[in-house]
Amino acid sequence: MAHSLSFRKTKIVATIGPASWEKEQLSKMIQAGLNVARLNFSHGDIEQHRQTVQAIREASDELAAPVGIIQDLQGPKIRVANLKGERVVEAGDTLVMTDVEHHREGAIAVDLKNWHRFVREDQSIFIDDGIIELKVNKIKGTQVHCEVVFGGTIRPRKGVNLPDADLPIECMTEKDCADLEAGVELQFDYIALSFVRTAEDITKLKKRLKELGSTARVIAKIEKKEAIKNIAAIVKKADGIMVARGDLSVEIGQVHLPAEQKKIIQLCNKSGKPVITATQMLDSMQVNSRPTRAEITDVANAVLDGSDALMLSGESAFGKHPVRSIQTMHEIIVEAEKQPHIYYRFGNRKKDQFTVPESIAISAVLCSKQLNAKAIVCLSTTGKTAQMISKYRPKAKLVAVTAKSEALCKLEFCWGVQTLKIAQYENTEEAISQVEELLLANNIVNTGDHVVLTLGVPVAQGQKTNAVRVFSAGNRRKGKEKSPKAIRFISPS
Ligand code: PGA
Ligand code: MN
Repeated sequence: MAHSLSFRKTKIVATIGPASWEKEQLSKMIQAGLNVARLNFSHGDIEQHRQTVQAIREASDELAAPVGIIQDLQGPKIRVANLKGERVVEAGDTLVMTDVEHHREGAIAVDLKNWHRFVREDQSIFIDDGIIELKVNKIKGTQVHCEVVFGGTIRPRKGVNLPDADLPIECMTEKDCADLEAGVELQFDYIALSFVRTAEDITKLKKRLKELGSTARVIAKIEKKEAIKNIAAIVKKADGIMVARGDLSVEIGQVHLPAEQKKIIQLCNKSGKPVITATQMLDSMQVNSRPTRAEITDVANAVLDGSDALMLSGESAFGKHPVRSIQTMHEIIVEAEKQPHIYYRFGNRKKDQFTVPESIAISAVLCSKQLNAKAIVCLSTTGKTAQMISKYRPKAKLVAVTAKSEALCKLEFCWGVQTLKIAQYENTEEAISQVEELLLANNIVNTGDHVVLTLGVPVAQGQKTNAVRVFSAGNRRKGKEKSPKAIRFISPS
């Protein structure tokens, strides 16, 4: 029998674009295993994003599969501006670069004002994720004369990286502030911030979100040298991290990428912060229906490194095979997760690092291990305990159960956390009855299986999690299948 989607622990994030923003396509993607949708605010207008959000939510409701939505703010990304058509450059060519204001015939303009002030002779400039490399020869007034080191085709709006320049630009540009404000009514679950340099960048965004009345969580995209330097403080402040390999590779130098990916993931795992590994995971599937061996191995290795989620970019936004890319990623992940060493990661925490919730979380995981329990269920309002439990990587299905639906989508990118909504309850017994019925109806457990439950008693008073309870499924009710079936728990025949 094939496994249900909920069998997979590592989550799938997919960037939504022209190849995927219709509801029918989104519905297929959710059925293939999509957990979180990323809307890239580097492209498109707010009206298009509004329609996409609506389509995602409709498809998600129909399938009873919560989908988290990320608003990914462009940040201070420099891009090629004013270019009509394409421009082919070859190694050894001379190329003049300017800002838009001082643009002259034959030069390539970028959209950073007065940029000639920030570059220095001998510095490297990269275009299009580092495919094209230039070296600055001379700066003559506003005209930056460069020599082409590696050639290629320069296309409109492609990204420009200056890894060694100290750019005096805020992490949140005017566009980002406007996009954030316009996005508030769309109630994004997460805001991803590009080119984060310091923990302060996160604090500022969080403050702004509070002013705007948003409860969105903040994901810091690690794609600058400064961010690597300040990684500990950034991980502490952010609610999640993205290893943004596209820009990071160019900014730190490609050979440093594999080790940095592993270090960032390890730090996030230790801190209990969800981490997404992103960019070019199945890149060749933009065109081909099968990935390369290197891509298969990259996806599996990112799982073994400890990623909470893996991300598709062009594969799902513009490529020929968005659904197949998700299916392929799902299959590779499920196989990689058969490696036993990724489970039960208790680390070597010192005794005094344990808070009450932390102790409850670790106890629940130990309990599930000893009893070979099929499920750990966290009854809570925010899902915080489920996220904490996820850190210890239990083998049992980890289900966050809440009566507050806002919390469900925010948990979608945490490793192993599945979510189910229940009706408001008055006491513990009522809550457990509902949980049990849901578990049985969705085939998460069978009659007689052990279930480990974390909860705050007395439940009616909304107590914070303070208890672990174990029960055998099916002793109260005999699975009347009254509960609606959620797509993620159904096994394909
Ligand atoms: P981007 O971020 O796709 O928004 O550039 C991811 C990355 O840089 O890898
Ligand atoms: Mn990037």
